[in-house]
Parts: sequence; C-alpha cells; structure tokens
Amino acid sequence: MTRYIDTHIHLDLLAEPALLVQEAEQVGVGAWVVPGVAPEQWSEVMATTALHEQIYVAPGIHPQAAGNFQKAHLDKLRQLLTHERAVAIGEVGLDRQLDVPWQQQEEIFIAMIRLAREVEKPLLVHTRRSTGRILELLQREGGDQVGGIFHAFSGSLETARKIMDLGFLLGVGGVVTLRTARRLPEVIREVPAEALVLETDAPYLTPEQHRGQPNRPAYLELIARQVASLRDWTLAETAQRTTLNACRVFGLPLPDTLQKDKETSDNESE
Ligand SMILES: [Zn+2]
Repeated sequence: MTRYIDTHIHLDLLAEPALLVQEAEQVGVGAWVVPGVAPEQWSEVMATTALHEQIYVAPGIHPQAAGNFQKAHLDKLRQLLTHERAVAIGEVGLDRQLDVPWQQQEEIFIAMIRLAREVEKPLLVHTRRSTGRILELLQREGGDQVGGIFHAFSGSLETARKIMDLGFLLGVGGVVTLRTARRLPEVIREVPAEALVLETDAPYLTPEQHRGQPNRPAYLELIARQVASLRDWTLAETAQRTTLNACRVFGLPLPDTLQKDKETSDNESE
C-alpha cells in the first residue's frame, strides 16, 4: 500500500510525538514535513528528525515572528537548510489578522522567497486574507521558480487556479472535513489531481469528527477519506496521487511501493 505524506505537521508542538507518529503509521502515514515558525523553535523542529527516519523539516520565519527578526536569523536559517532532511522553507507568508506591522511581514516574506531561490527549495505558504498580495510578491520575486504548497488551502477555485499557475500546490487539511466548508469541496473536485497534497497541521485544524480536541497525526486518514470521496478515488489511489505530488514538490525519492505502482501503470499504458 502506498503511504500518505503529511506535508504540514507541527510535531514539535505535540505532547507525545513519538507515540503519535506510531499511531499515524498504523493508518498508513509514512512521512511527515515539520515546518518552523519562529527562530526560537527551530532547534525543536530540527530535533523531530530523530523520532523517525521519514521526518523532514521546513524551517522558516512565520509572519507572526516577523516583528522579532534579526539579521543573524537569516544566516542561521541558511545553515539549517543544508541539513539532509531540510526539504522546504516554511511556514512563511502574510497574515492580516496578526498584530505585526505589515511592512515587516512583507520584508520577511520577500527575504524568504529570495532565500528559497538561493537554496533552491520550495516554500510552505501561510496566508490569511492576504493571498492576492502573496501571489503578487511571489510573481515579482520569482517564487514560481521554486514552487511549494499553499498550506491549509480554503480559497475559491479562481484563487486555486492562480496558485497553480505559479507552480504551487494546494495543501488539503482538516477544513475539507468541516460541515461548514462551502466552496472547498467543489475546489477539490475541480482542480487537477496534480495540485493536491495532504496535511494535518496538527495540533491545529482538527477534522470535524474530533472537533474540540487537538488534532493528531493519525487524522490524516480522515482527510484522505474525504478527498477520496470528493474525487471518487479509492483510498489507495488518493495515497498514490498525493504522495507522488508531495515527493515531486519536495524532491523526495518515491516510496518503493509507488515506484512499483508507477512501473505497472507505465507498462499498462504502453
Ligand atoms: Zn501550520
């Protein structure tokens, strides 16, 4: 069975991450990408790689940490990104609901795009009521050359298309399971399969079934089930397609099972 990749999970913020990772393995999750938020947390983010050989990291500066930025952070980040399990820069972006001066947020986001181009790694993008400006800055700064994922995507089909045009994917998380999700299910149905990757964002964005509790890594399966039902895919197909997309964006080797699946389907199509 092809395994799922959780493309956005804050393992450093979970109480018993080793146990929770095991629990997630039992429902078919095989790899995890842990984004950074603030420079003070980077060492904990990097330390999560010791929990499992398939844990990858994406250190970066979230807009909420933009107010405390120091130049030394950029050098530190550049050094962390040389780690063999560092696959992206995240999470970075803009957030209109934060009490952090807009200009500082933009400066840091631009610095993150430039760094991504320098080290040739994709970006994990966080946006709240800022997607238009984020797209402008990505375009202006050449963000399309590195690509990445718009994490916790919940926008319109039109926005999804603009994101895809810039070479970015849509991170599908707990929001897709919410009874109140209006346009997202439609977007998930309509976009090309190549645009979709899965994420939990645990401990945040808990799926509908467990609302009121912290989100867990194993709940990725609930998100996968919802995507499967919207797309009319089997669970195996959902895992296969989203894992292939995640491996492409992060430059990860395809899991053995997927390698075989791919060979089989290549042969079948000949
Ligand atoms: Zn997050």
